[in-house]
Amino acid sequence: MAWWPRDKWVEMRSGTDCPMCADAHLPSNPASDLITKLSTSYARLARNQTAAGYCVVILNRHAAELHELEAGELAGFWSDVARVGAAIHAEFSPVKLDYLVMGHRAPHIHCHVYPQYEDDDPFLNVDISRGESILGGAEQEDRLRALRNRLRPD
Ligand SMILES: [Zn+2]
Repeated sequence: MAWWPRDKWVEMRSGTDCPMCADAHLPSNPASDLITKLSTSYARLARNQTAAGYCVVILNRHAAELHELEAGELAGFWSDVARVGAAIHAEFSPVKLDYLVMGHRAPHIHCHVYPQYEDDDPFLNVDISRGESILGGAEQEDRLRALRNRLRPD
């Protein structure tokens, strides 16, 4: 398949029917659960916990590219991403955090914060769609609560 049809892509970029605008703020959606609202974003815990603590930080308004943000909002977004990384680090002790900003399927600025652990192969490219690890409700709730506590305002 080549790139999206031109008209479709123009619509997607503009935010028309954007799935992230529709559900980034909801307590739960098919992909993730809301941890908390941060200064410029929503911090969400992925439903598919293939790496413990895998989160997504989603800008709280529609924009497709980082260069479309003014400096303060851009700094705020990266600050939110770093805060989420710090919370994952403190709670789950990964050996490394990977930060993935893509958007070719959903052109709404978001960053996957994907922890790497001792038994992960550092030569494998991260594939966020690889594998399935859907936790039971209680275990997902425990992770949400733990990260929410660590992301409380000072
Ligand atoms: Zn959007």
